[in-house]
Amino acid sequence: MAAPLHPSLDSTAPRIQPPAEAVQLSQRARGLHPSLTLAIAAKARQLKADGQDICSLSAGEPDFDTPTFIRQAAAQALEAGHTRYGPAAGESALREAIAGKLSRENGVPTSLGQVLVTNGGKQALFNLFQVLLNPGDEVLLPAPYWLSYPEIARLAGASVTVLPCEATAGFRLDPQQLEQAISPATRLLVLNSPGNPSGIVISRGELEQLAAVLRRHPRVAVVCDEIYEYLLAPGLVHHSLAAVAPDLAERIFIVNGFAKGWAMTGWRVGWLAGAEPVIKAASALQSQSTSNVCSFAQFGALAALEGPRDCVQTMAAEFNRRRSLLSEGLRRLPGVTLPQPQGAFYAFPDVSACGLDSMTLCDRLLDRVGLAVVPGVAFGDDRCIRLSCAVSPAAIEDGLQRLERFFAGL
Ligand code: PLP
Repeated sequence: MAAPLHPSLDSTAPRIQPPAEAVQLSQRARGLHPSLTLAIAAKARQLKADGQDICSLSAGEPDFDTPTFIRQAAAQALEAGHTRYGPAAGESALREAIAGKLSRENGVPTSLGQVLVTNGGKQALFNLFQVLLNPGDEVLLPAPYWLSYPEIARLAGASVTVLPCEATAGFRLDPQQLEQAISPATRLLVLNSPGNPSGIVISRGELEQLAAVLRRHPRVAVVCDEIYEYLLAPGLVHHSLAAVAPDLAERIFIVNGFAKGWAMTGWRVGWLAGAEPVIKAASALQSQSTSNVCSFAQFGALAALEGPRDCVQTMAAEFNRRRSLLSEGLRRLPGVTLPQPQGAFYAFPDVSACGLDSMTLCDRLLDRVGLAVVPGVAFGDDRCIRLSCAVSPAAIEDGLQRLERFFAGL
């Protein structure tokens, strides 16, 4: 019998165990859930290393190497002596290149002073939430959501109100639902397109409708997490809310990074863009916490932005093939409802017809057929599970067969 996937989601267990002796953990630390996706991927790796027959569809990162010209640029920067402290907000050349990308590619006019280079998209979110939110403020979070948002919001002392979006409604956020959820305490709305775990892409028309709601609520800011921007199904276009509604740009913050599009997860380079006073505050926070992102890694990121994009397109095309393979396979399984993922590299089917909650289901999948996937409860929807297609087509086929075997044996 495999050990439970993760103790932190066991309702009978405290989230983080306080130390037995004199040193006491803060309330903040005790309330934290460690990242379940990282924990499951690590556990699957460990079981494999122990010789068990495991198929893991839990990955949250591209399985490609960072393109050669980017690695070479970082190596050259290292050789050239970019090994010291740099400006906390990032190298000017990189901030300028990011501002240029946002202005040209996304239609969001941006200057260098509106960009902060961060340790991945995650730190961009962390810094933003820290400088925008006070205890008692409310964050609106459409579900399913990426599992770090609620933790990062709570670390800033804010409360989280989840806006459930149904699989049967294609996981779409209804503007009326947003309007009704906004309270005097609401300070921030989180939008993530293409979405993790749903793969949903918010269309221009939907953004216009959401913007119409936001115009009636001038105290509500928006963070747009665009980290999967390049991973789109054929025919789809990524739209930035700040380009669709430029009149709201002062309160729209963009989070993005190099991890997913350029296969640079380990480099830890991302960015936050938005109104200059907020970027200044987030830079000050960064200057007192982590300081600058690894100097030579920033030069690799600069090369990525300035270099050819065929590498990004090739990887995106491969993810499209695999996403189709995964979603077509899932659709063939009885009792599975799957809103078509349109981007990123996940599928988030509703499998509640099997009668198990997502944690129990994932535990049993690992235990009985050696399949590691992530329970939907971690993403705010206990009816679903998340499967990743950032693995080889053979691993996707293998995972689908294991899932089929498991359902047949229920
Ligand atoms: N936002 C979303 C939706 C993600 O899925 C992830 C990583 O999985 C991130 C942000 C953070 O990415 P990074 O590795 O750049 O911190």
